[in-house]
Parts: sequence; structure tokens; C-alpha cells
Amino acid sequence: MSITRNNPAPKVKGAITQRGEDSYAIVPRLPSGVITADQLEALAQAIRKYDIPIAKLTSGQRIALVGIKGADVPDVWASLSMGEGRAVKHGVHYVQACPGNAACGYGQQDSLGLGARLEEMFNGLNLPAKVKVGISGCPMCCGESYVRDIGLVGRKNGWTVVFGGNAGGRPRVGDELASGLDAGQALDLVGRVLTHYRDNAKKCQRTARFVEAKGIASVRQALGLLEARAAEAKDVVAKPTETCLGLG
Ligand code: SF4
Repeated sequence: MSITRNNPAPKVKGAITQRGEDSYAIVPRLPSGVITADQLEALAQAIRKYDIPIAKLTSGQRIALVGIKGADVPDVWASLSMGEGRAVKHGVHYVQACPGNAACGYGQQDSLGLGARLEEMFNGLNLPAKVKVGISGCPMCCGESYVRDIGLVGRKNGWTVVFGGNAGGRPRVGDELASGLDAGQALDLVGRVLTHYRDNAKKCQRTARFVEAKGIASVRQALGLLEARAAEAKDVVAKPTETCLGLG
């Protein structure tokens, strides 16, 4: 009998069921999309050894290995020595980050460094729905920060924290919660807004729908924040030109 939505394949720990008979996908954890030579070699060896038909770079800066046989899943994981990235469970799914001031000439803040800290702090946190994070080292926003559940934008005066964005079928531009924060303050605010969201949102309610339902003023009030000063933020927005190409 073929596998359908009503007749799903048996679950395999650490893998996502795919279309077709005995076909599973895994998504190794790649904080901020940064990968080492050893990890690339391990991935290439696993793809060849287990005859994995699709290796896909995802929009969340991860690599999905698709079409693995169920019996091979544990061995593939063992050969990679990489953690599991959340793909279906609720919580922080991924942190995407641009190169920031580690590499990009326009970078005003260290987006890769902040991404690594954020992943470490919030990976595994249970939340009402999936949460995607986008970190950009400057206001050109190659990390798509305004259309992620949590966005961070680097400016000369520090980090701006954005909440409630979404790039899906009902897109929403997130709201700025605060600007001019150092990395520790930005992470603290992310922790507080995620806690508020966890404690007050309905199950499966994404942050965009949560903000629409409650109003951003109520979120700001619960966090003890003043109205974001959007005008101040606009002062430091870069003015892209045809030759102005970021590395994101
Ligand atoms: S131009 Fe893009 S890649 Fe470069 S720092 Fe700004 S957002 Fe990041």
C-alpha cells in the first residue's frame, strides 16, 4: 500500500517522513549556516555511502538530506556527528544570520557571533509554534530580520530587536521592540519576549498571529518597553546603490 497523508509511513526517530515508500529526511543542526570542512566531508561521505538522492540547502541556512531509507537513519546520524536541527517540533527552528562585520564591508555588528549565542541559549526551548530567527549585521537586512518571528538588526548604535514577522502565506512585517542594545541586552530581550509568547500564545499560534491578536502595545507593556523610536532607526539605514552588494 502506498504512503499517503492518511496512511503515513512508520515514524523513525530523528527523521521526517517524506513522500514515497521508505523515504526519510534529516536536518543536521548548522548554527547560523556556518559549516566546517570536516562537516562538509562527513556529509559528502554519508551522501555517497547511503546513496542519499537529495542534499538540499534550505531557506533556513541548513542542509536537508532527503530520501534516506528508514533503516539507514541511525547510521547516517552517527556518521555525521552533528546535532539535530528542529524541523517539525515547536520551538526555535533555526537562526539564519548574514556574515555581518566578520566579513561584509557593510557590517555594523557581529551577526554570526550573536547567532551562535542565540542558538546556544534557545535551542531546545519549547514554544507554542515554530520560531524562526533572522540576524542581519546592518539595516540592509540580508538576514530577513523583519519577516522572521525574531529579528535582530545591527546598527552603529547597537542591535534593534524585532518581533512578530512572518514571510509565509500571510506575511507580516515585525515590530521593533527596542534599539541601541548591546549583545547581552538584545539576548535578554529576546529571552523575555519568547517567555511572554510561550506563556500567552495559543498552541500552534505563530508570533505574527499572536501580535495581531494581542496588539504590539500589549506585548511592549508586558515587557516594560517604551514605544520603539522608528525615526531614530531610520537615521542609520544604509542607502543601497547598484554597486552596494552585501554578502548575505
Ligand atoms: S549588507 Fe547584508 S550581509 Fe552585509 S552586513 Fe548588511 S545585512 Fe549583513
